[in-house]
Amino acid sequence: MSVLDTTTSDIITAEEEHLAHNYHPLPVIISRAEGSWVTDVEGKRYLDLLSAYSALNFGHLHPAIVAVAQEQLTRLTLTSRAYHNDQLGVFASALAELCGKDLVLPMNTGAEAVETAIKVARAWAYRVKGVPAGAAEIVVAGGNFHGRTTTIVGFSDDSEARGDFGPFTPGFVTVPFGDADALAAAITDHTAAVLIEPIQGEAGVIVPPAGYLAAVREICTRRGVLFIADEIQSGLGRTGYTFACEREGVVPDMYVLGKALGGGILPVSAVAADAAVLGVIRPGEHGSTFGGNPLAAAVGHRVVEMLATGEFQQRAKALGEHLEARLNDLVGHGVTAVRVAGLWAGVDIDPAQGTAREVAERLLGRGVLVKDTHGQTIRIAPPLVVRATELDWAIEQLKLVLTA
Ligand SMILES: *Cc1c(COP(=O)(O)O)cnc(C)c1O
Repeated sequence: MSVLDTTTSDIITAEEEHLAHNYHPLPVIISRAEGSWVTDVEGKRYLDLLSAYSALNFGHLHPAIVAVAQEQLTRLTLTSRAYHNDQLGVFASALAELCGKDLVLPMNTGAEAVETAIKVARAWAYRVKGVPAGAAEIVVAGGNFHGRTTTIVGFSDDSEARGDFGPFTPGFVTVPFGDADALAAAITDHTAAVLIEPIQGEAGVIVPPAGYLAAVREICTRRGVLFIADEIQSGLGRTGYTFACEREGVVPDMYVLGKALGGGILPVSAVAADAAVLGVIRPGEHGSTFGGNPLAAAVGHRVVEMLATGEFQQRAKALGEHLEARLNDLVGHGVTAVRVAGLWAGVDIDPAQGTAREVAERLLGRGVLVKDTHGQTIRIAPPLVVRATELDWAIEQLKLVLTA
């Protein structure tokens, strides 16, 4: 018997007795998956409309990504950065080209990449901009989600995320998301950077007003402040573009990437910026044991190759328009509002229908996986390989649970 062989009752008992309760998962135990579909331990199939919060943009077990991972698994998996490995440099160069930037710094999780961006912005402020030691400020947006470290939750305004986890790192200023005037007013001579999500994912797929990103770019350039775009969830094809910033033709000073960069196989994150910014980091100042490991680099490199064709971005754009039309039909029928950007949607559920969690549970019963966020919103982020007919079927299930 293999360590992979388990029984349902073993799994439930083990989780109840030994797994910390930092999540409240929907009641489904997944054991297999392929493309846009997952299968539970009893053999029931579900259409995955969450894609691990966009970490599975290419679907489960994409053959091209699995192939490179399997090949690399037989060659070399980890060296640490104490030595060079033969995969990291070529991955960095491909990713830099995709981003249109000079340099990348690889990490593992999204939160680590955000922490990297914060450290780089502060070092840049002291060494390049000339901000007095210890005085650097970073402007962030209300409703943000940038990860779970103590520094990051310290500038979240979500009481669940911050809770009893202080004291927090100083040096962050919060302004309302989507309000360029408030952002401009918050910038001082000590401001190192503005850190925002171009579209706020966890907040419920909140799309800022048209012109906001362009205004942020203009303000940052004029005031000599770095524009850092956390594209961990919005980037890498999700919105119909490689980066959601492209929706407004905007190029930030630094991209923060993660989630889909790991091809749904392992955590791969990075920041990308020009040498004038990322070049401030010197040997010994920042790093990670696993960051840039050859397995992650090989997988990330394949992901970059797949994005370089533009095929996934085009699919997200075309299917996104399809999804938007279908979802708009639901407004007034159990749905109060819909926000769509590419193949990414926030659907606000009419409280008369119950909570978003209850709707997600009813959808689960009909073979559709979605995730609730902030009480009344369900988030839809299918793998970019999903078919239009599958989306139609899923919307049909949503209609049925809403009129029920
Ligand atoms: C998921 C997410 C993160 C954190 O990524 P982890 O890999 O979970 O640490 C940061 N920023 C955004 C916008 C995210 O969606």
